Amino acid sequence: MNLILIGYWVNKSKYMFEESKKYADPTKLQDKSFWESRDKAGVIAYLESGSKVNQYKGMSSCRICQQGVGSSERSDGTYAWPDRMEHYIKEHDLKIPEEFYEHIKANSFKVPESGANMPMYGYRFDETFWIEWSKKYLTDFEEKTEDIALRARAAMEKRPMVVQETIERGAKDIQEEIDNEILKDLEKKFTKKGMRNG
Ligand SMILES: [Zn+2]
Repeated sequence: MNLILIGYWVNKSKYMFEESKKYADPTKLQDKSFWESRDKAGVIAYLESGSKVNQYKGMSSCRICQQGVGSSERSDGTYAWPDRMEHYIKEHDLKIPEEFYEHIKANSFKVPESGANMPMYGYRFDETFWIEWSKKYLTDFEEKTEDIALRARAAMEKRPMVVQETIERGAKDIQEEIDNEILKDLEKKFTKKGMRNG
């Protein structure tokens, strides 16, 4: 059985960015006005009542506020979405694809019976629709990484100076240490001499 997978976001962490940058940036989807003319509570209730159709080991966290948001997927028999997707709508006013909203509305905001008690495994998740929709809301994070690269390069160019400073500071410390040793040595000799003379 094929399910239309939705509700995945870009992950800006170092190791997840490359493979997830095809997904929308949730911060670009925050839109209070989208919900002014739509049934937000109805959508939230709908998302909460889908069947669990997949379970992961790790807990996922909200891309906006870092709160834990679940580790499974839910479905109504047509679409599949990450468990706790409603968090993004409830807490951050994320808009959803118009097609998905119309689909929920056509079901009178109630998961159809055929989608209410689905078995846990055995589906193919198709994300073509979601990736296509995400294209309008991709992150500009890459530009930021470029900024970071530029700053790093500028810092590298300054490095010889920093290294020089460190060497000078180190040399000064070593010189002081040697001076102290010499002084101590002289002190000892002086004391011994003094003892011998005394
Ligand atoms: Zn959040």
